[in-house]
Amino acid sequence: MESFNIGLGNNDNETRKLANSDYVHFWDEQAKNLSWFSPWQKTLEWTPPFAKWFVGGKINASYNALDIHQSTRSKKPAIMWEGENGESRVITYADMWTQVQKLANSLKSLGVKKGDRVTIYLPMIPELPISMLACSRIGATHTVIFSGFSASSIRDRVEDSKSKIIITADGGYRRGSIVPLKEVIDEAISGLNFVKNVIVFERTKTKIQLNDKDVLWNDLLKEASDTCTPEHLESSHPLFILYTSGTTGKPKGVLHGTGGYLTHLYSTFKWAFDIKDSDIFFCTADIGWVTGHSYVVYAPLLHGATEVMYEGAPDFPDASRIWDIIQKYHVTIFYTTPTSLRMFIKFGDDIPNSFDLSSIRLLGTVGEPINPEVWKWYYSVIGKEKCPIIDTWWQTETGGMLISALPGLETIPLKPGSGTLPIPGISMSVVDENGTDLPPNTKGYLIIKNPWPGMLLTLWGDDTKYKNVYWSKFKNCYYPGDFAIRDDDGYFWLLGRADDVLKVAGHRIGTAELESCIVSHSDVSESAVCGIPDDVKGEVIISFVVLKESSSKPHDSLREEIVSKIRNEIGAIATPKQIYFVSKLPKTRSGKIMRRLLKSIASNDQIGDISTLEDGAAVSEVQSAFDDLKNSIQEKK
Ligand code: ATP
Ligand code: MG
Repeated sequence: MESFNIGLGNNDNETRKLANSDYVHFWDEQAKNLSWFSPWQKTLEWTPPFAKWFVGGKINASYNALDIHQSTRSKKPAIMWEGENGESRVITYADMWTQVQKLANSLKSLGVKKGDRVTIYLPMIPELPISMLACSRIGATHTVIFSGFSASSIRDRVEDSKSKIIITADGGYRRGSIVPLKEVIDEAISGLNFVKNVIVFERTKTKIQLNDKDVLWNDLLKEASDTCTPEHLESSHPLFILYTSGTTGKPKGVLHGTGGYLTHLYSTFKWAFDIKDSDIFFCTADIGWVTGHSYVVYAPLLHGATEVMYEGAPDFPDASRIWDIIQKYHVTIFYTTPTSLRMFIKFGDDIPNSFDLSSIRLLGTVGEPINPEVWKWYYSVIGKEKCPIIDTWWQTETGGMLISALPGLETIPLKPGSGTLPIPGISMSVVDENGTDLPPNTKGYLIIKNPWPGMLLTLWGDDTKYKNVYWSKFKNCYYPGDFAIRDDDGYFWLLGRADDVLKVAGHRIGTAELESCIVSHSDVSESAVCGIPDDVKGEVIISFVVLKESSSKPHDSLREEIVSKIRNEIGAIATPKQIYFVSKLPKTRSGKIMRRLLKSIASNDQIGDISTLEDGAAVSEVQSAFDDLKNSIQEKK
């Protein structure tokens, strides 16, 4: 397997040694990097499957994100914000601190108390992190809902969390038009009497109707004092509820605590990004997803870092927007998703090549397996063959990264398509159906053998589901639901969701293996494969393919080329029964391919929960590609 000998860092083997000898003591040491109001009495209370970290310790997230920087970095930009319409704002650590305290006092004045839930439905503007930190300052649990969600999705989540207060905006910009967020909220909460107030930030200054419950952000903050003592909260005090992306089914309400979660973020941000005071960090994730919570809001602020925050769509007004932002702000660390990278590849290399990207020193990816071909493109076209790429595997439930190369800690060879090794303090394995460790190079289920500080507390209001989903398949081990392989060097390769595994003629093939092979064809930009029932073979593979804009070959010859590639690189058993060319794939709002939807369409099954789907048009697109082919096959007969 091809490997790249690049990395930064200083090979701090002591950290790994300490972690391997006693992970509880190891995390105890890491937690000391944060500021605590009172020390903990017990590092870990583990009553499987419930973990409490740093029991008895008192802490506050907003204090660690803001107060501790005031004597050294008050004038340093915390956020350099770029609006979709070209506006920009710089918010220093001092500005953030003032705004957070004012809003925290305002929330108190509206009757919000420690333990109450507050729903936040805001676009990517600085008021979103400010709202989260204001909640955490007074011990309210925030629940952020991605600002693209519909009224009914919001209603479900608000009813589930029983939020007293909603924070929203008059509107948000998306691809040049204004999304009427306040109107959506009005519809979502109509008749929900437990919602006491709606705080409205005026982002677009569009005319909105104000109801009895509504208060304008500016009016509220005008009256508020700018000093608010942070609550001293128990380490496992619930910091937030966040619903998963819904790639595999109905979203789950993941509940995270405070001290453990922050310890995990502080450590991984330092190890993975090798963060320096002079860095300009840019993560493209929306704060509505966990990557935004952990690595846009909490981790960079804990470190007093400066980051770029972008409000809009990555291809608005055109496909050069992200490269333009990197050039403008001299971004040094760039963290994005394989989906975005595949989109950039589709538009061609000339676009990034016409920008000065030389400030970048480190690249990261998260969210899906990264195809080796896409990895190499990222490495050469964006990183100019000088920047390490960290492929970070984690989930909403894990709170922070669990597998990643760690340039801030050690230099190890990178292999395109592998996340490399688990972070220190984490014991992971690949096992068979019975939970037995598999030898290297054998496909199986990824499991985690010990609790870790960023681990979810439970699923909100549903301990039973928490136990069933994550802890019942393998005894006393956490089951993430992913399919993986570990190679001879102990590197982990994520092969896709365990539920999506293709079973053909007794072989098990991860979706990522086959998709990566298809994507490595020079005309292809994206691909999704799934298995559907077949009378004769039990299951057959079908594949959906999106072509690059530059592709002009006839579909029939492309089909032949793709099939012969698969036969050569994987084997004849992996040959799809059908290859459908489509212009988009169904994806979740967080950018992940929804294979379960392809499968239902292709098998004529009921389509389940699609509330987190990005674009309804993708479903009909796939459906019609499928129907067309079925018809033409029938005609040929
Ligand atoms: P749901 O649980 O509702 O189906 P989801 O799993 O897509 O939604 P997230 O928590 O956002 O919600 O995604 C976590 C999943 O994303 C992981 O379980 C894994 O399948 C995938 N993933 C994340 N990062 C990587 C990565 N670097 N390599 C491979 N897969 C990844
Ligand atoms: Mg999941």
